[in-house]
Amino acid sequence: MAAPLPLPALHATHAGIWIAAPGAEAREAERSEAIARLAETPHILINAPLVGQRLGYPDVSGLDLLELFAFIHPARFAVPTVAGLARACGVDPPTNEAEATSTLIGIAEALLGRLDDPDWPEREGAWTANATLYRLGWSWAPFVGRRVAKPEQGERMLFSRLPQWEESAERPQPRSISVPADDAEARLAELTGKGSEPREGQRAMAGKAATIFAPRRTAGEPNMLLAEAGTGIGKTLAYLAPASLWADRAQGTVWVSTFTKALQRQLDAEGAKLVPDADERKRRIVIRKGRENYLCLLNLEDAMQGAFAGRAAVLAQLVGRWAAYTKDGDMVGGDLPGWLPSLFRRSGSTALTDRRGECVYAGCPHYRKCFIERAERAGREADLVIANHALVMVNAARGRPDAPSRIIFDEGHHLFDAADSTFSVALTGQEAIEMRRWIIGPEGKSRGRRRGLGARLLDVCSYDEAGNQALDAAVEAARGLPSDGWLARLAEGDPFGPLEGLLRQVRGTVYARAKAQEAGYGLETELAEPDGGLVSSAAAALESLEALARPLAALGRRLEAILEDAPDWLDGQARARVEGAIGGLNWRRETLGAWIALLGRVGGLADPDFVDWLAIERVEGREYDVGLHRHWLDPTRPLAKAVLEPAHGVLVTSATLRGSEGWPSAEQRTGALHLTGPTNYFEAASPFDYAAQAEVLIVTDIGRNDVAALAGAYARLIEAAEGGTLGLFTAVQRLRAVHARIADRLARVGLPLLAQHVDPIDTGTLVDIFRDDPHTSLLGTDALRDGVDVPGESLRLVLMERVPWPRPTVLHAARKLANGGSAYDDRVVRARLAQAFGRLIRRQGDKGLFVILSSALPSRLLTAFPPEVAVSRVPLDVALQRVRSKLFGEAGASQVEMVGSEQ
Ligand code: SF4
Repeated sequence: MAAPLPLPALHATHAGIWIAAPGAEAREAERSEAIARLAETPHILINAPLVGQRLGYPDVSGLDLLELFAFIHPARFAVPTVAGLARACGVDPPTNEAEATSTLIGIAEALLGRLDDPDWPEREGAWTANATLYRLGWSWAPFVGRRVAKPEQGERMLFSRLPQWEESAERPQPRSISVPADDAEARLAELTGKGSEPREGQRAMAGKAATIFAPRRTAGEPNMLLAEAGTGIGKTLAYLAPASLWADRAQGTVWVSTFTKALQRQLDAEGAKLVPDADERKRRIVIRKGRENYLCLLNLEDAMQGAFAGRAAVLAQLVGRWAAYTKDGDMVGGDLPGWLPSLFRRSGSTALTDRRGECVYAGCPHYRKCFIERAERAGREADLVIANHALVMVNAARGRPDAPSRIIFDEGHHLFDAADSTFSVALTGQEAIEMRRWIIGPEGKSRGRRRGLGARLLDVCSYDEAGNQALDAAVEAARGLPSDGWLARLAEGDPFGPLEGLLRQVRGTVYARAKAQEAGYGLETELAEPDGGLVSSAAAALESLEALARPLAALGRRLEAILEDAPDWLDGQARARVEGAIGGLNWRRETLGAWIALLGRVGGLADPDFVDWLAIERVEGREYDVGLHRHWLDPTRPLAKAVLEPAHGVLVTSATLRGSEGWPSAEQRTGALHLTGPTNYFEAASPFDYAAQAEVLIVTDIGRNDVAALAGAYARLIEAAEGGTLGLFTAVQRLRAVHARIADRLARVGLPLLAQHVDPIDTGTLVDIFRDDPHTSLLGTDALRDGVDVPGESLRLVLMERVPWPRPTVLHAARKLANGGSAYDDRVVRARLAQAFGRLIRRQGDKGLFVILSSALPSRLLTAFPPEVAVSRVPLDVALQRVRSKLFGEAGASQVEMVGSEQ
């Protein structure tokens, strides 16, 4: 038995600060004492950046248990709180804050105890990694080093331990078969299991969903089904039943596309019902994401071998531990704990992915082990590919060979927004500098492996004269693009080159014309009536972009020719490298073409299909990007052309697809309107008893700009619900102001309050913490309105501070004008209210209240809620009584005067 750890522990929350000396009881401490002690001796703590924020002392370092957990159990999930980590380590969770401090020591002992355990599954590689971490000064390394045994034989290198993917023959075209409705229903019954009858709506949906798999009758006209499936009918199994049958019988792949990570995780879990055997499941159900989500092993190798320094180098070692145990190498929402990069203040984690498209494909020594390549290949063989809307659209738009032909878009109410961003164009400083780096490679003092196009096409440069000339010309032309320090030069009025000159004019125009919507945040103005300086700088920038596009086009043609008429030097690896370069080049050339078209319009006639504007991106007053933007007025047009028309069968489903406007609105927002073939419809109402389970309250006595009253109402409502509250804000500043006023007060009564934009924790982890503790509440903005799936009692109250009117952006104004004026705004708000309300009741037995702290909610918008839900306009005191009586059945309900349902 190891001796107790001779280390103190520190626990800091909004309720106070506690310190426990080794072997002593925890005691409360003042902030100044805690800071002094931390500076003297490393303390055991959880989440150093968060502790630093609580202490108002950002430079906190110490023995962070989350780092130790990530080292000992890489790729395992744990909620990053004292209770969450205690449970993950088999330690009793604390019952109060003082006890939490001693629990920290217990967790450390339990984790370090694993190092002696002969059955510790993640032992391989630990000794070697710790030896490097020791040299890097990682604070846990001496403690780990004392306990982890040196392996008798040298450990295998990480990169030799990873499995290789195998190349296989191209899959033949799927067979032309239909899935009879009866078969789909029988399959559904199998999936829902013996003894649990499929629900009626679910059964009907499975039969209807089968129709999209019938052989297509006419090219360009997919079997198109729009399905509104109320929350709780079990729509995922309803469409997975026919999808899995078709995939099996036709030997084809069905893509299921989602918008939120929450649904992607849920679908991954449903996979166990479809394919119970874990190994077979890995082969038949594959999650696919964009390249930028995955770890690039070449970047990792570079980082582990010295490209990263200081804390970023420690992160690289911990990611290296994870890389050996991860299921699929997905760093964003996969099995890398979401909290890990934020412990390092995100330094380095994005540089480990292939975010900038610098992959060298077969030229990479890790190509055969690469997570991205493996996921792509696995997707081609799989029955089901679970992806997101953006990836499905990008694959289809780029005409990739694995573009999906049978697609199920779940969370279909987001198709419009996903298409809006996929088919948009942004010519900004950040985008242009990325293009420069992709072509030229590292310049000046920049470190790391980043390569330019020349390094990626080394063989072409050495053996092919014409290719080499085109490449040189492209590199020369790319020097006209913005370079490091461009933002400062813009601010100083000293731009370098034609693109920076244009951006300076854009910046000046925006400051001259834009109206701030939220102080310190983005500014924009429409691209209309540009003055002479803007027009002439756009012409110069356009010329410079054309001078870049020409050699890139010549290079593309040369590469195609090399592939067609293979020279001697073109071995298998060089071919793969050239193919990879052609893919990357086509994508860049498309971007350049879109930029040139956008600039061609400055000073000319506006194209009615597009909305163009100029913008400065800012966060808290700090500028980080400047540029021109172009969006489709109706992004479902390119969606229909590039994604829907080429497909054979498409199902678009959501709990809120039609809204209260009916099918024409759903057709408009999904692109079905632009198809020449017929569209089919399905609807099934939610089985929930909303009248009994939920209630909507509109609080009438909170002044519109009275932040103190708003904060007071938030605190009292959260107290009445005893936590379990999701608070939604329309502005970050008000969120912060409310949080600052009430977080301490609530924490002192045992009701922790988390907040997006305040706590240094990623959104997914905030939701995990919220889900884990029914007394915790969470404040946030847009992303939480639709991305939170928290069934059960952890979420029982949704608070909305204001009516979620759309922000009056240039883009919104154009769409509003084109789509019926204020009726368009109403549609947007109703959809947002419906999505927010949808967070509340996730399963049978849930109950809760939806409270809007603004009397300005017009009654015409109340159709956003299910018709049977009672809606009342009440003062705050009455709302508090209603919350208590609904959730806890306390007296007070009878005193409430019901205004009655407004629908
Ligand atoms: S093949 Fe490309 S993405 Fe994969 S590890 Fe190598 S460089 Fe990175």
